[in-house]
Amino acid sequence: MIVAIDGPAGAGKSSVAKALAERLGFRYLDTGAMYRALTWLALHEGVPLDDGPALEALADATPVGFGERGTVTIAGTDVTQRIREPEIDAAVPVVARHPEVRAVMRQRQRALGREGDSVIEGRDIGVVVVPDAEVKIWLVADPAVRARRRHAERDGLGMDELAEELRRRDARDAPNTHRAPDAIAVDTTELSLPEVIERITTLVDEARAGVG
Ligand code: C5P
Repeated sequence: MIVAIDGPAGAGKSSVAKALAERLGFRYLDTGAMYRALTWLALHEGVPLDDGPALEALADATPVGFGERGTVTIAGTDVTQRIREPEIDAAVPVVARHPEVRAVMRQRQRALGREGDSVIEGRDIGVVVVPDAEVKIWLVADPAVRARRRHAERDGLGMDELAEELRRRDARDAPNTHRAPDAIAVDTTELSLPEVIERITTLVDEARAGVG
C-alpha cells in the first residue's frame, strides 16, 4: 500500500509522514530530500542551476541514498544536516522545476515505492508520481503556524523572514504542487501530531477494509 502525503512547505509533512510510517510499519520516503540533496551537489560541484540537461546528468549519475536513522547521502557524502540550510531552501525550487530532473526523480521514487508498503511525502505524489496510491492526504496549515513550526527547527532566521521564505517557496513550487481530486485534506493548524496520525491511520484502516 502507498500513502501519499502532499502539501506546501511547513505544513508538517515530514513529521507526519515519519511518525505515520513508524506507526504503520511502512517505509518512509522523503522526496523533498532527494531534490535537496541534488541541489546541494549541484552547488558543491558548480553545476549551473539553470542548466536542466546538466542537472539531469548529475541526477542520473548520483542517486540519493537513504540510510538507517534517516540519513541522506549523495556522491558518498552525508548531507543530512546540510540540505536543511537556508541556502538550499532558496535554491531547491530552481533545480526542481526542470522537467528533466523531475523525470529522473519520479522514476526513482516509483521504484522505491514498489519495494514495499510506503508513506511517500512530497508535492506531486498523489497526482504525478503514484496516482494509484491507495490513500492520498493533502496536508495544510495556517501560514503563521507553518512559520512558527519552521522557526522551531531552523536557527538564524526570524519569524517574518521565515514566513516570507515559505511564501516565496510555495509560489515557486506552485507549478509542481498538486492536490489530487481524491486526496483528503487534513488541516494541521489546530491538531497535535498524535491527532493527525490517528486521523490518517483511520483512513488507512478504512482503505485496507475497502471502505470509501
Ligand atoms: O518538502 P521539502 O521542503 O523538503 O522540499 C524541498 C523542495 O523540493 C521543495 O521546495 C520543492 O522545490 C521540491 N520538491 C518537489 N517535488 C516533490 C518534493 C519536493 O519539487 N515531490
